This record gives sequence, structure tokens and C-alpha cells, in this order.
Amino acid sequence: MALHYSGARELLSAVQRRAVGGRRVLILSYHRVVADFAQEAKRSLHTLNIEQRTFRSHLEVLQESHEVVSLDDALSVLDGTRQAARDVAVVTFDDGYRDVYRHAFPVMRDLRIPGVVYVPSAFVGTERRLGHDRLFAALRRMQARGIGPMAVGVGNPGERWLIDAFEGNAEPQVALERLIARRPTPGLLKLADALEDRLGLSSWRPQEGELPMSWEMLREMDAQGIVTGAHTAEHTVLTNQRLDDARREIAQCKAALEKGLKKPVKHFAYCNGYYSAGVAQALKAEGFISAVTTEDMPNAPGVDPFALKRKVLWEGSSAGVLGLYSKPLIACQFDDTFGMLAVQKPVMGARPTNFGTAGRADAEQGISAHG
Ligand SMILES: [Zn+2]
Repeated sequence: MALHYSGARELLSAVQRRAVGGRRVLILSYHRVVADFAQEAKRSLHTLNIEQRTFRSHLEVLQESHEVVSLDDALSVLDGTRQAARDVAVVTFDDGYRDVYRHAFPVMRDLRIPGVVYVPSAFVGTERRLGHDRLFAALRRMQARGIGPMAVGVGNPGERWLIDAFEGNAEPQVALERLIARRPTPGLLKLADALEDRLGLSSWRPQEGELPMSWEMLREMDAQGIVTGAHTAEHTVLTNQRLDDARREIAQCKAALEKGLKKPVKHFAYCNGYYSAGVAQALKAEGFISAVTTEDMPNAPGVDPFALKRKVLWEGSSAGVLGLYSKPLIACQFDDTFGMLAVQKPVMGARPTNFGTAGRADAEQGISAHG
């Protein structure tokens, strides 16, 4: 991985890749596509959201510079079995929110753009909220009411995790990122239960769009070229699990999705963008052919198909200096101008394989863009 590369090295290698003639593949990642960004920001994790009209503008700008293709076609460009006249792009969504069906799907269909929606299998067709949405609501409630990590009274290890997450008087968003990066997902789901209980949030009614898609919605999108990929069963950060547990969850989510969709599921997205050699090997063993990270770089021929790079976008990605939609800014994003100038350093997702006998899941790990 390019962790140790200086900006100059990165620029040089980008130029070299172009010199050898390979087409670049840009993979975009979105989460929720909402009707009204400002309204939705009051009640949900706003950095996952983009307004429908901004989303449409992104895709229109993208189509001017890139051939927007399916992930299968993009993989063929990367392995040299398919030629492309221009750089290609792939549009993906993580987490399987219902408003992807309601607000993104009509735009994709209208512009004839294929894509991938990566879903955590255990949520499909249920009314369950994702762990990060539940935790964010709880952390924000703690802040709003001035309730500290000890006063909230969840007991250990949750109390210790909260003290650590809020260190330096961190905002709820930062505390959430620290929890997800550092703690095992099953433990975080228990912490969400305890916090909701203590804060009186157990009967919280989420917005319809924050709920998961149904099997029918996924099948309807699939028929229009927006295929379903896997994103674990419980939205689990697999490198924070023992490898045996990660293997079990990978097999479980593939089987559940293939049963529900009645077709093979070949593509995977790492939760929080974190992966390891052991996890990638487990995906191959289960028959997956690709996996995406949240490492913000374009892909060039020769890239490992189990460590594909992706650019995570939300409403703020194209806000410009006045907070208005800025076409030049988003065109820069797609052209990777920021990456080439090393203005934005990609957060790398590679982690050691967790063969884990004991306690390893508490290891300190860096903060990642959410995947
Ligand atoms: Zn995710």
C-alpha cells in the first residue's frame, strides 16, 4: 500500500500510469440520497447524505468526463480484457438505505447509469436501524442534554469506550468515528441498546428513508442494472473481529443475499473501509471477485481487485466556498486534482489480519472515512 508515499511520489506514479496508457477507473460511494439536505441534517448523520438534485448534478458532470459503466465492465477494463475510449466510472451506494430506492434510483434510471448497492444482509426487508445511526442519535442526545460518559450509566466496557471516544470534548460525529474504528461491532450494538435504554430512545421513530430497502426494491433495481453487493450481515468492521468470526459473517451474508435475490452476489464492500489480507482471502474463498475500500484514489490497471479504491461523496463534497453547488469543485473531485496535488491524503484501510486469541479487538486504530 502507498501509506508511506509522499505527495510527490503519488503525483509521479499517477503520471507514470498515464504514460503506459491504462485507463483509470473512478469508483464513487454514496450513502443516503435525500429530498431535503438541511431538513434531514437535523435528525441524521448528515455526512452520509446528499440531496437528490445535487446527486443528479454529480452524475451529469461525471458523464461529461467519464464513461459510467457497471462494476463488471470496470473490472474488465482494469484486467485489460475490455478497452475504453475514456476513463471509466462506477457509481456505488453503501448500507442499503430505502431512500436510495426512492431518490437515487429514478435519477440513475433517467440517466441510464448502472451501479452497485452494497447491503448488510441482516437488515434487508426489516425495520431495523443501522448501528451507526442508532449510536449517532444517542451520542447527539448525550451532548444536547449535557450528559457525560459516566453519568449516562451504561457500565463497562461501554463507559470506558465512551470516555475514550469523547476525549478532548469531541463532537458526536468524531466520537462515533472513534467507536466504529476501535471497537468490535457486536459490542457497539450492545452499547447502542444500553444507551437507547438509558436515554429513552428505544421507541425512536426514524425517517422512512433511513430504514433498509426491501428484497423487492433490490430486485427491481437489479433488473435495471443496479446490482446488489454484500456489506457483511450486521454491518460489521471485519478487521475488528477474529478472522474465524469474519469468515462466518462473510459466508452468512453471501448465502442470505443469494437466497433473497435468487442470483449470485460477487462484489463486496468493507465496512468502514477496513480490510486485511486474511479478510480478502476469506472473500475469495467464498467466491467474491471484488471488494471496495474507502481509499480515496482512482484505480489503475494492476490494482488488487480486493482493495479497489473509492471516493466517498456527500452534500458537502461539492459545497464550494459559499455553500452553493459548485460545478468546478465537483469536476476537480472526479478528475482527482486534489489527490494529485496531495491536498487530500487518502485514509488507508489496510489492517493486520486479526487471528485474535484475546483482547485484540480493543486495539487502537485510525479514523476512517465511513464505508
Ligand atoms: Zn457501510
